[in-house]
Amino acid sequence: MALRKCPDCGKEMSTNATKCPHCGYKDKFTQVAILVLILLVIGIIIGVIWYFSYEKHLNDLSNTVKQTSLYSR
Ligand SMILES: [Zn+2]
Repeated sequence: MALRKCPDCGKEMSTNATKCPHCGYKDKFTQVAILVLILLVIGIIIGVIWYFSYEKHLNDLSNTVKQTSLYSR
């Protein structure tokens, strides 16, 4: 079993270990994968909120247009 140094604490850890057994440092790939996943979820949530608020804004706008056209008559 090959060993490599942990980039965080400098102690030896297995090359095929995804996590350092000493300090709990996670492999860069795992960190990036988790980060991308979190960003993706946040992006989807923001997208859904933006979509619904935009739709509401459009409804408000069409209501205002209706009201102004009523008053102008
Ligand atoms: Zn470590």
